[in-house]
Amino acid sequence: MKSYDVVIVGAGIIGLMAARALRAAGCTVALLERSEVGKEASWASAGVLMSRPYAYESITDFALRVEGSEMLLALAPALADETGIDAEATRHPALHVAFNAAEEADVRALQAHLDGANLGCEFIGPDEVRARQPEITAPVTLGMVTSCANIENRRLLRALDAAARKSGVDVFTGCVAYALQVTGKTVTGVRTASQDFAAGAVVNAAGSWGAALAGAPEHVPVQPERGQMLAVHADAVALTHLINLPQYIIIPRKSGRIVLGATTEKVGYDRRNTLGAIHGIVHAAIHAIPALAEATIDEVWAGFRPFSPDGYPLVGASELAGYYYAVGHHKLGIQQAPITAEIINDLILTGQSSRPVASWDPKRFS
Ligand SMILES: Cc1cc2nc3c(=O)[nH]c(=O)nc-3n(C[C@H](O)[C@H](O)[C@H](O)COP(=O)(O)OP(=O)(O)OC[C@H]3O[C@@H](n4cnc5c(N)ncnc54)[C@H](O)[C@@H]3O)c2cc1C
Repeated sequence: MKSYDVVIVGAGIIGLMAARALRAAGCTVALLERSEVGKEASWASAGVLMSRPYAYESITDFALRVEGSEMLLALAPALADETGIDAEATRHPALHVAFNAAEEADVRALQAHLDGANLGCEFIGPDEVRARQPEITAPVTLGMVTSCANIENRRLLRALDAAARKSGVDVFTGCVAYALQVTGKTVTGVRTASQDFAAGAVVNAAGSWGAALAGAPEHVPVQPERGQMLAVHADAVALTHLINLPQYIIIPRKSGRIVLGATTEKVGYDRRNTLGAIHGIVHAAIHAIPALAEATIDEVWAGFRPFSPDGYPLVGASELAGYYYAVGHHKLGIQQAPITAEIINDLILTGQSSRPVASWDPKRFS
């Protein structure tokens, strides 16, 4: 039986970042992935960093993912040096637009969080919106400009995968973990369909599938939430801002690709795209930016956000000694990955974390 200091279940952004941190700290690490590395939620993601707080989020939590976003922006060039893979991290302002009084109120309500996270915001009128982004010809009533960035998440995953292997992380693909091995109240390893792994610590980073690993005492109410997206090319549309529409986002990638999304749907693990969802995104985008009607479709896809009932992830220690959760990152897992990895690393190595994340306690649903 193979034996490691740490076995991580799931090779999405969370598992990869945790593996990177633990390996850098000197641990022997096995990363178990039931399919291919980085091909689920982290691949399907929009890769937006910072942008805007959500209604359920505390200022502290928003500030934490702004910090996580900055960590990713600093990591991208380091990973490019290590692996030759550029994750195309790019800073640009976000332009949040409102088309009526109710949407204006929603946009203005974000100010306290933005100020609290030192991100700031500037409210602008319809003329200034058109001056900044002339492609928006719909009758906007208010605009708000914030700091923002995006990263090509698929390239980031490839770079993290390459860097992990290079640093000595053992990556096992096609390896389905189905149960913890437990002695008394301590985890001692992981059972997979093909072999068993002995481990000093086990991290559950299985995303939307985080509830399926048998043997843990906690209730893990994580479920899949489908998000549909598409990418287009539009020579006539030169976006200098990420556009935050009331329901959808339009993201200009460094490569020139424009990414549009995303839906939020509870349909289990059905990863098909639907006409209605794509119609909704496309309709809103063309309403705001009519020139997008000439865009050519590059790709359409769907993925599963690991939804947690209160929006916060489950990150931290289990009642079972040596077992840790890093699941349920819902809409924000790319930005929260660096902080998550830091917390898991600190907990495994020192037994404590200085991060203010009581709201992420994995035992809160039990
Ligand atoms: C459409 C969409 C848009 C998004 N946009 C953004 C955004 O703009 N910004 C942002 O910050 N976040 C965004 N998110 C959210 C973000 O992508 C997720 O929160 C994040 O990717 C979760 O990472 P993860 O590693 O936990 O999950 P995943 O990437 O799903 O990885 C989990 C891995 O575990 C593996 N696994 C599961 N069970 C087992 C098992 N039993 N044994 C072995 N392996 C297993 C899976 O195969 C998978 O590879 C978006 C998500 C979606 C779907």
